[in-house]
Order: sequence, then C-alpha cells, then structure tokens
Amino acid sequence: MKFEAAVLSESHAPLSIELLELAQLSDTDVLVRVQATSLCHTDLEAVEGHFGTPLPLVPGHEAAGIVEWIGKSVTQVQIGDHVVMSWNPHCGECFYCTRHQPILCEPYRARTAQSYHFDGRPRLTREGGAPVHQLMYLGAFAEVCVIDERCAVKVPHDIPFNRACLIGCGVRLASVRRRISQKSRKARQLL
Ligand SMILES: [Zn+2]
Ligand SMILES: [Zn+2]
Repeated sequence: MKFEAAVLSESHAPLSIELLELAQLSDTDVLVRVQATSLCHTDLEAVEGHFGTPLPLVPGHEAAGIVEWIGKSVTQVQIGDHVVMSWNPHCGECFYCTRHQPILCEPYRARTAQSYHFDGRPRLTREGGAPVHQLMYLGAFAEVCVIDERCAVKVPHDIPFNRACLIGCGVRLASVRRRISQKSRKARQLL
C-alpha cells in the first residue's frame, strides 16, 4: 500500500510530500486513516532538530482518524472505529505501569528516541525499502498512520475529528498540568 506523507529529511528544512510504502505490519498494529491532525510545538522542535530524532521522519503526534485495518491480535478497536491517537504506548508491566503511571513507562521512555514502534522495527519505507521514522510512535502528518493498538483510543462518532485530535496531546497535557497544580496547591496549604 502506498500513501502520501510529509517527510522531514534534514533539520530546519521544509517537509516534502512523498509517496511512502507500508513495511510488514505486526499482529498488534492498527492502520488509521488520518482525518485531522494539528500542529504542536513538539513537532516544531523535532523539525528544528532539538530532539536529535533520526531522519527521515514523519512528524505529527496530535491526530484522530478512522480505523482501516487491524492486526489479527488486536482487541481494543475494530475497523470503522473513530480513534484519537496517543503518543504514549506503555508496556503495562514495568515499575511505573504497575503503579498507574504509564507516562513514565520505562520502555516507552527508553525507545521514544528511536522513533519506531516498541519492537524497533520500521513500519514505513520510502520506495526501494529505506526505512522512515515515526515521531512519538505516530507520524501523523500522513494520509494513514500505523500505530500499536495501545495508541488507539476509541472515541464516539459524534465528536468532530478536528476537535478529537486535540485530545491527543494538548488537552491531555493541560489536564495533567491542572492536576499537578491542584496537588501542589493542596501541598502548600498543608505547610
Ligand atoms: Zn504535542
Ligand atoms: Zn511500562
């Protein structure tokens, strides 16, 4: 399958629209037809090379879309589901995951910089087979996005995609920040 994506080949350079191909997908992968993706400051930082993210890279990590294909082991979503894509896959077994802190998941943090899936295998290639990286396990500046099922969060069909995509990063971080500031306010009151 071929599809178009905005690819970063060089830091600070403009993205170029390229025709990419899907590499071999895994049984836990989900293929999402992207309906809306927004631009987060983290995308800009990646484009400017602040993360040292390997290239070539498809940025984009705040997106929503429709499930188009699922691997045979996928249980969380079905074809046709509307999903928000999460940049925080988590193993469910490490020190932090078992304490309900998946944002600190050890494999998640250890493998984010490689910009592939947890298993370290590329899902996207250029024509000819050269691998292409996906920013933050997503790479949503594309017509389709290959994500692990742990990154596919089902949402109701009546949420517009251009609103749903914001839940993928901005809304989540705002909510986390609010909880942190509430906790620190309570802590200050106790002092
Ligand atoms: Zn973001
Ligand atoms: Zn974990």
